[in-house]
Amino acid sequence: MNKKITVLAGDGIGREVTQWGVKTLELVGELFNHQFTFQDALIGHAAIEATGNPLPDASISACKASDAILLGAVGMPMYDNDPSLKIRPEQGLLKLRKSLGLYTNIRPIIIFKELQGASSLKSEVLDDVDILFYRELTGGIYFGAPRHRTDDGSKAIDTMVYTKMEVERIARKAFEAAMTRRKILHSVDKANVLESSRLWREVIQEMSTEYPEVRVHHMFIDNAAMQLILNPRQFDVVVTGNMFGDILTDEASQIAGSLGMLPSASVGDEVGLYEPIHGSAPDIMGQNKANPLATILSIALMLDSEFGLKEESKVIIDAVDLSLKLGYRTGDIADETTPADKILGTKEMGDQILSSMRAICTPKYA
Ligand code: NAD
Repeated sequence: MNKKITVLAGDGIGREVTQWGVKTLELVGELFNHQFTFQDALIGHAAIEATGNPLPDASISACKASDAILLGAVGMPMYDNDPSLKIRPEQGLLKLRKSLGLYTNIRPIIIFKELQGASSLKSEVLDDVDILFYRELTGGIYFGAPRHRTDDGSKAIDTMVYTKMEVERIARKAFEAAMTRRKILHSVDKANVLESSRLWREVIQEMSTEYPEVRVHHMFIDNAAMQLILNPRQFDVVVTGNMFGDILTDEASQIAGSLGMLPSASVGDEVGLYEPIHGSAPDIMGQNKANPLATILSIALMLDSEFGLKEESKVIIDAVDLSLKLGYRTGDIADETTPADKILGTKEMGDQILSSMRAICTPKYA
């Protein structure tokens, strides 16, 4: 297989972690006889500095001409602390999602057994948790019009809009995913209050007749937020709107223990974008402290869902699992029981994953 990958390293720890994504793909190429070629493109603060634009047209063209996109993160503290700055890194990210029609954000919540202690939930609640979130990413209240503040500043308006088409296209992806898993789909809405949620529920109910094997549960967002930490094992695939998904997936990320462990995919009908869920972490940038595993696991997601390379994807996940079993940790997932010599920096953890991949593929290295 021959694939072209656009790398948008972005800001902060973005460059430190994406280089391990690239090295992981290069090794997959070597071990499985595929060829991956890489093209760097600008986004975020790095793009503003170089061109004055958080997402130059050249970056959009590069993404559109590639087979998959690897993104680090965008954002720097100078923007967070000065809302008056009109050109901002995150505008690049929103424009990218819209330009590429990335309407589905997929976030798997997988807990590596060795890290159950890193979660704030009791270990027995976390046994066998495996959730796949489908969050709608280009509609809902984050994009609806009108959205404004009255002239005297005393009233603000946001609008939640969903069309049947928008619900159908993400629901189709979620139903299809459920068919390949435990065949349980939770659809999360607020249909007891919101008209857009009543449409959401109606569409899911209509579509459920096409997937008779999938057990569909409708759940209100407030109950879902509670059930997620009470009994996360009950969930298999969860489909929900933009804002509800934003909140629920951040809550779910804590089930896995650290932001540094969770990958994500944003997909539409064309090229897909793969990125760790964390931000640019300027507090640790340039210090070799960033956990590269969320980015490396994003590559596993890319290989599986974008290119159908399941075996290659599994080797990466198994290599992460093996490295954790061997006791290696980055600072964010270490605890008081971790021996000092097992606490690794970004580079050392990256190297460890590569040697675990080699060991899994070629037993003579073990
Ligand atoms: P953050 O995710 O960058 O960091 C939160 C905390 O988690 C920090 O203490 C950080 O050091 C730690 N952390 C994050 N990733 C880590 C990793 N891989 N390894 C070890 N520790 C890690 O969130 P924040 O501090 O709220 O935001 C920082 C910047 O990132 C802001 O400018 C924000 O706008 C931006 N941001 C970007 C994205 C994105 O690009 N998708 C997402 C969220 C935040």
